[in-house]
Amino acid sequence: TQYKFFTTTANCNNAYDLQSVVLHERGHSLGLNHVSQSANASAVMTPALSTCSAGKRSLGLGDYQGLAALYGTR
Ligand SMILES: [Zn+2]
Repeated sequence: TQYKFFTTTANCNNAYDLQSVVLHERGHSLGLNHVSQSANASAVMTPALSTCSAGKRSLGLGDYQGLAALYGTR
């Protein structure tokens, strides 16, 4: 009950994008750690997420590279 979440940006009121949060937490479950917000502003694995933003619903290059380092590429 501490945080509010949304699934569409319509009528957002100080809530967090559920899809972005789940993607970030999934990154942790796959072994990724936080990265610097200032150096990696577009990365999903930054420790902060702005309210009413759906801008982190897909991996940034650094997120992808971190997963590729752990699991390889095809
Ligand atoms: Zn985190």
